[in-house]
Amino acid sequence: TQILKMQDKEVFEAIAGETLRQTETLELIASENFTSRAVMQACGSLMTNKYAEGYPGKRYYGGCEFVDIAENLARDRAKKLFGCQYVNVQPHSGSSANMAVLFSVLKPGDRIMGLDLSHGGHLTHGSPVNFSGQLFDAHSYGVDRETGCIDMNRVEELALEVRPKLIICGASAYSQGFDFKAFRDIADKVGALLMADIAHPAGLIAAGLLSDPMPHCHFVTTTTHKTLRGPRGGMIMMGSDFENPLGITIRTKTGSRIKMMSEVMDAEVMPGIQGGPLMHIIAGKAVAFGEALQPAFREYAVQVRKNAAAMAESFAGLGYNIVSGGTKNHLMLLDLRNKEVNGKVAENLLHDAGITVNKNMVPFDDKSPFVTSGIRIGTAAMTTRGMTENDSRTVAGLIDRVISSADSAGIEDICRTVRHEIRELCLAYPLEGYGVNP
Ligand code: PLP
Repeated sequence: TQILKMQDKEVFEAIAGETLRQTETLELIASENFTSRAVMQACGSLMTNKYAEGYPGKRYYGGCEFVDIAENLARDRAKKLFGCQYVNVQPHSGSSANMAVLFSVLKPGDRIMGLDLSHGGHLTHGSPVNFSGQLFDAHSYGVDRETGCIDMNRVEELALEVRPKLIICGASAYSQGFDFKAFRDIADKVGALLMADIAHPAGLIAAGLLSDPMPHCHFVTTTTHKTLRGPRGGMIMMGSDFENPLGITIRTKTGSRIKMMSEVMDAEVMPGIQGGPLMHIIAGKAVAFGEALQPAFREYAVQVRKNAAAMAESFAGLGYNIVSGGTKNHLMLLDLRNKEVNGKVAENLLHDAGITVNKNMVPFDDKSPFVTSGIRIGTAAMTTRGMTENDSRTVAGLIDRVISSADSAGIEDICRTVRHEIRELCLAYPLEGYGVNP
């Protein structure tokens, strides 16, 4: 960092400011985490210099013998971690992973079905502002108005009506589990392929704490940077479906054979939608998957869930409505419509109080995505710092102190006091092995 400081003071200072922010404020954004020093070292390594279009052993560039080792390690460890038979660790992001799957099996105009964005789905699950909604005929299922949970009968009704070619299950802001088997039964009934996007709960699934999508879904995509605690990136997996013949005959040197799903997927990632893979990030993925295979990661994942459950219970006790009634994973969505604030105001006030959350639409929200009626809270990052249930309860109390005084004249003082308490709490759990620049 001394070199950066001398060469480029502006970037150095931005990083210094971000370091202080991550150190002294509380990170509760459900999609964020702190990677280990080892992951960051790999990501900050000279593997960023290497072009390696293609796949291990079959590259379009020379000099790939060492990046091949890193990519093979990432693949082998991902296979062990998720019990998958095929994996592609090259997608630059979760969105690229989803794009590759959609492009590999669909043609423009084909019908897809995913969870509505305002009910917790992701942009890439068919939102009209995203490629998935623009290139495909997207239909969305939602959660039940009363329970806040996905009603599988409704999913089935819609699937029978829409007859999609691909069904997407998975979410960005849904605190219950997914019944992958029930989704597969519906997919089979209507002749659809099934993709699970486990970007959020991937770490909990890897730790065996939530149901496993691999036996039921044709495709499983994920990001690597949320509960999985790796570098920012994406990944595509398949169980036994990787061998699915696609009915496409290809000519080979020795005759002809049927093309397999795995080949189609690899080709869709590169050259289909990407060029050179980010080899430094793939090395970081390998390190993170190695960490996630250790027993300590399971303990971490168990604590993430305990912290979320304790926090949700505290919020419920303080009169907050949690969408779907509670949490089974690392996150919760607070519906603030019975409070004095909307999501935007809550996010801003909590920011002033040293707590980072994001405003989020709640199901059947009457406010715009720029205002919203909710906030999404997750415990993956605070758990990496070492915080436990007691801290989770303290944090719920501090959040309530801010939100319940939003309209009061003394709100600025309250935010200042809470900010001080949050700083003390964060400093009691210093970022050491995780979340520090390499
Ligand atoms: N899928 C889900 C369910 C997500 O929550 C996210 C990110 O928030 C993504 C995909 C996209 O990941 P990325 O931001 O890496 O493109």
